[in-house]
Amino acid sequence: MTTRTTGPGHVVVVGGRMTGSAVAASLATRGVAVTVVDAPDPLGDATAASYGWINSHKKHPESYHVLNSAGLEHFHGVLAGVPGVFRATGHVEIAGTDEHVASFEQRSRRLQGLGYGVDEHEPADLARLVPGLAVRARLVRGFPREGIAAPDRLVAHFTATAVAAGARTVGARVDRVHRDGVVLTDGTTIAADAVVVCAGVATGAVTATAGLEVPTVAAETGNVVMGYMATTAPTPAAVDRIVTTDGLNLRPEPGGGMRLQALGLDGDCDPDRAPFDVPAHVTDAFSERLAEVLPAAAGTPLQVRIGRRVIPGDGFPAVGPVDDDARIWTLVTHSGVTLGPWLAERLAEEMLGAPPDPRLAGYSPRRFRASTGEAPAAPRAPGDQ
Ligand SMILES: Cc1cc2nc3c(=O)[nH]c(=O)nc-3n(C[C@H](O)[C@H](O)[C@H](O)COP(=O)(O)OP(=O)(O)OC[C@H]3O[C@@H](n4cnc5c(N)ncnc54)[C@H](O)[C@@H]3O)c2cc1C
Repeated sequence: MTTRTTGPGHVVVVGGRMTGSAVAASLATRGVAVTVVDAPDPLGDATAASYGWINSHKKHPESYHVLNSAGLEHFHGVLAGVPGVFRATGHVEIAGTDEHVASFEQRSRRLQGLGYGVDEHEPADLARLVPGLAVRARLVRGFPREGIAAPDRLVAHFTATAVAAGARTVGARVDRVHRDGVVLTDGTTIAADAVVVCAGVATGAVTATAGLEVPTVAAETGNVVMGYMATTAPTPAAVDRIVTTDGLNLRPEPGGGMRLQALGLDGDCDPDRAPFDVPAHVTDAFSERLAEVLPAAAGTPLQVRIGRRVIPGDGFPAVGPVDDDARIWTLVTHSGVTLGPWLAERLAEEMLGAPPDPRLAGYSPRRFRASTGEAPAAPRAPGDQ
């Protein structure tokens, strides 16, 4: 813990998952008294449904790529030292269809131009890179800096770090926030010098209780918010790195299984069925694609869950103070596993009096006062997230 002379004495963090736990740890280890208030979401939080791919792979515009690259490097520089939370496995993407080849060529060239690590491979290299993969390979590229995180372990790590530095955790729902603290649904008041709202998909609703607009896209069947994520039982056939193909994304899971995504299936993903009422045809399609892409894993039991992405109204992170007096703050973002730990550090520095990180210019939550933004598009193609 460091000794602190400026900044708020007591901060309430609303939400205790990926972003909230990271903010709590960043503040508490800087000497701030922190109370984390989190009520589990009955529909499942975003962190539990995350694919956990640490990357800056398809991030437009360049200023957003800069943030994600910083998030990725924070994993290499800081979190790689924490047992079990991150593995720098690298990522191999294989394009076979005309559409995928065309978009992937363009994307790879852009990433090379940005100085992002891109390894050029021949299709014949695939058997060595990912043994057992049975896909049409016309364009193969590797992304050696990318890796996988275990989101729940990250939350456990940050929560333990915060508590060890004196933070308090409260299992309760916040009814409303205001400039002097929060009120819980049972009427209890927790006074604070500042509040940080890290409530995921509920962030907009929570800040609205203070008359502040930080819109998050509402979940609707098949929209940008909605996505399936499958987890397999352990199998000796599991891939050892992130693998993206035309129709299925695969990554290893601690314990010997895999997480799978098939973005093309997300079109009928229904928020009213979250988190586990998944149509049988979707589970069957995951099983069929797995058997096709990785035949040695055919028949491996898998469970699919429905996830809701946290998407600010214009698709971009909203990090910093919301009100004029800097009493109510937010950290709300998609790609929050890649970005959350790094953004939490920047937010804590700013709360303690440092000038805002110039890389976050344009990502202030206050921008929503001036603009309605443009609706983000749903991730449907390989390389999306
Ligand atoms: C299908 C899917 C795939 C993804 N893949 C990736 C990926 O590969 N890489 C990546 O970097 N990111 C990925 N993401 C995004 C990432 O998982 C999220 O951005 C991140 O987990 C968001 O964390 P959070 O803490 O902000 O929100 P959440 O995990 O949703 O947590 C918010 C918490 O706040 C609580 N809360 C809400 N309202 C209140 C209240 N009033 N009072 C008390 N508590 C409250 C909720 O119950 C919850 O516990 C993916 C997300 C999804 C859904």
